[in-house]
Amino acid sequence: MSTNSSPSFFTRLGLYPRDSKEQTVRLRRFFMAAGTYALTFILAFLQSGLGIMEARPLYFLLLVVAVVQTGYYLLFRTGANLRFRDPSLTAPQMYTAALALMYCLYFAGQGRGVYLIMYLIVFLFGVFRFDTKQFLQVTVFSLVTYGLVIYLLVTFKPDTLNLKVELLQWIALAVLLPCFSFIGGYISSLRNNLRKSHTALQEALTKIQEMAIRDDLTGLFNRRHLMNLLDYEKKRTDRVGRLFCLAMLDIDHFKRVNDTLGHQAGDQVLQVVARVIASSLRATDFCGRFGGEEFMLVLIETTGPGAEELAERLRGLVEATTFPDLSPDLNITVSIGITVYQLNEDLSRTIFRADEALYQAKAVGRNAVRLA
Ligand code: GH3
Ligand code: MG
Ligand code: MG
Repeated sequence: MSTNSSPSFFTRLGLYPRDSKEQTVRLRRFFMAAGTYALTFILAFLQSGLGIMEARPLYFLLLVVAVVQTGYYLLFRTGANLRFRDPSLTAPQMYTAALALMYCLYFAGQGRGVYLIMYLIVFLFGVFRFDTKQFLQVTVFSLVTYGLVIYLLVTFKPDTLNLKVELLQWIALAVLLPCFSFIGGYISSLRNNLRKSHTALQEALTKIQEMAIRDDLTGLFNRRHLMNLLDYEKKRTDRVGRLFCLAMLDIDHFKRVNDTLGHQAGDQVLQVVARVIASSLRATDFCGRFGGEEFMLVLIETTGPGAEELAERLRGLVEATTFPDLSPDLNITVSIGITVYQLNEDLSRTIFRADEALYQAKAVGRNAVRLA
């Protein structure tokens, strides 16, 4: 599959849509079918050139097939096919081809064998979608229509056929097509299973990727991802000379919560505080759980005073939060230390300064914001 490659020749020509991989796959199959029609017509005109087949009915068929195929192309290209239960339109396309073959069989004279082989190619297209039952339905359709052709030939052109040979060919087809139906149905089901396991794997991968960057308890970014993001932001800031602030937030006397209300209550407090932090940040800022009851906030394009203002608002929000489920008089507060990142400095220095500021906030009695 060419998932990430540059647009194909057909895409650049405008024959395939640029925005949908599925529609491109369907159109690719459509063009394969169109190519098969073209080859079959070349063979048919060769036969008529050799005097085996009549030419006039061929021109008529060419016209009909051209119109019908243009119709299919427009269905795919406008997206109208998406309204059908099978947007690939596999069944209609296969029945169209089987009908075209039946028509050729009637006019092919002694060259009928060519078109009988073509049935197998038509069936090959079913492998993309059909189960055995659908294959058997086309088998019945093909055998009935071929039988009908034999009947019409016996009635109207008895001189162009040897009934015994024709019946033998019918029997051969009646053996071959069901065989193909079972094998094709089996391949189709393998394809389906593969697609299902591929989807399941993709979903699992997305989940694992998400788990790898998030903290289980709070759902915020974990420390590792936080440090990756911070490192990326530092490099960007160093290059373009922007500005960001780093804030460390620590819950005050959190040990007491655990000691008086239990570890589970402590966990709930952590979750609530995490939610308050996450909801008070701007979309461009990011935050995460640095460890224990400590959180890190990175405020992009923010000056020291700007960060202080935000931290002060956040401090107030946490202070105002109540925990009626845990204890009516539980009052949680946080201390926040902020620092402005200095261009080209080591991140450990920035973190150290933020920690210092946090320490000062604790030292003045907690429930406070300090800028260092
Ligand atoms: P201070 O105001 O000085 O920060 O006091 P504190 O009690 O908050 O600080 P200290 O570092 O002494 O205690 C932090 C506590 O946080 C200790 C630890 O048991 C608890 N803790 C760390 N991670 C978790 C967690 O995931 N769940 C719960 N319930 N508690 C945690
Ligand atoms: Mg604490
Ligand atoms: Mg702490």
